[in-house]
Amino acid sequence: MHYDKNNIFAKILRGEIPCKKIFENKYVLSFHDINPQKKIHALVIPKGEYIDLDDFNKKASDKEIIEFHRAVSHVSSLLGVENKGYRVLSNIGSDGGQEVPHLHFHIFAGEKIGKMVA
Ligand code: AMP
Repeated sequence: MHYDKNNIFAKILRGEIPCKKIFENKYVLSFHDINPQKKIHALVIPKGEYIDLDDFNKKASDKEIIEFHRAVSHVSSLLGVENKGYRVLSNIGSDGGQEVPHLHFHIFAGEKIGKMVA
């Protein structure tokens, strides 16, 4: 499968559509989900062109992988939720329920997140 350069997160990364930014560095961008499923619903995406976590784990550099994971903790701290806890989730492919084909971690927080799988 090829990376689709016209997916919505690629457009956000190119600045073609806006986002409610939480954090950005050379490797990652984090912003609020447009349709929050919990009180706090943030997304963390790598700047590189990776379809999903599987693609990322196979192709990304060690530095990209480290920075992507570190960013999750940094964003949780910026959101003020690291002490109360939160859930990190990544959907992969059609059975996984992925809608946007650019790797993203969801961060759900701000309330009890509930059942692990609906
Ligand atoms: P997934 O189903 O794991 O691919 O999740 C895609 C997520 O992207 C959903 O939670 C959407 O609400 C979110 N989303 C789609 N478009 C935007 C956008 N323009 N800005 C922020 N979040 C978005």
